[in-house]
Amino acid sequence: MLDKYGRNIDYLRISITDRCNLRCKYCMPDGCGKVAHEDVLSYEEFLRLAGIFAALGFRHFRVTGGEPLVREGAADFVRALKRVPGVEKVTMTTNGLLLTKYGPALAEAGLDGVNISLDTTRPERLEAITGARDVAARVDEAVALMLSLGVPVKINAVLLRETAPDICALAEYAAAGVPVRFIELMPVGEGRYLTGYDPDEALAALRRRWPDLHPEDVKLGFGPAAYYKSAGLSAPIGFIDAVSHRFCSGCNRVRLTSQGYLKPCLCFDEGADLRALLRGGRTDGEIREAIRAAVHNKPRQHCFENPAAMTEKHLMSQIGG
Ligand code: SAM
Ligand code: SF4
Repeated sequence: MLDKYGRNIDYLRISITDRCNLRCKYCMPDGCGKVAHEDVLSYEEFLRLAGIFAALGFRHFRVTGGEPLVREGAADFVRALKRVPGVEKVTMTTNGLLLTKYGPALAEAGLDGVNISLDTTRPERLEAITGARDVAARVDEAVALMLSLGVPVKINAVLLRETAPDICALAEYAAAGVPVRFIELMPVGEGRYLTGYDPDEALAALRRRWPDLHPEDVKLGFGPAAYYKSAGLSAPIGFIDAVSHRFCSGCNRVRLTSQGYLKPCLCFDEGADLRALLRGGRTDGEIREAIRAAVHNKPRQHCFENPAAMTEKHLMSQIGG
């Protein structure tokens, strides 16, 4: 559906849990806090909402979290989501640790792609960021497994100062055929208190290693990444620079939290409490109108350059990234 600025909003990110098996320093270093089980939407509630979103023209659905795979039944949820009339693509964003366990079930459920978060391949630095050991090795295993199952994989890395020296090593995944995207640190949640690494400096470092790296009009998935290619890389490298290279005019997404709150923009807390409507006995038509109004009023752009004006106070793990 179109919002009031004429953008076609057809992409919903669904956070199915706030919980996570990692403690990334820019996301939830102290854990997620207690959310009562009954406050989180059931899969049935998510599916009812997905049907309403699809009827409004939403086509792409990404399952995220917290860590989506710590919630039992995530693969069955993917399967059910794929069957909702109007849903075209269902993908997932995960830290990858549980893919060796659930990868086959996800592939069998019809998952259309998986984005795996990995900030560096250096084990000791990754441990300092995530609070866990052996993450890089487990992710490497997960990448190989998902590719062998025929599920497209992308690697997503948040640009941090301490991982700047590791950028080219991580980009070797692209040399091996797996697209790598570098994400600018956003001042959301814990990200407010950290300084990220400048994407332009990261690009310059990559160009020193692959001098022919050049922008290329590649469309992978349904996000806003700007892609670069090199003869030395068999997959592209992307940049998602939400802060320094604002792409709000082409934004196509809204987010649904695990507690059923619809968030039209990452920067602002204003949205619609769909859980209250679901549990208040409202009809699909009434819920559809609430969604339509919230999406229609999606803000024109974020204000990350002026964090004092941001009204979003949640952690990234509660929003789903
Ligand atoms: N646990 C899953 C994972 O890590 O992929 C899914 C949820 S996580 C919140 C989704 C994405 O948000 C991850 O790629 C993570 O690196 C990114 N993220 C978290 N906090 C961020 C921040 N402040 N700025 C930019 N990206 C962030
Ligand atoms: Fe967990 Fe993902 Fe947040 Fe890391 S970024 S703490 S893996 S939710």
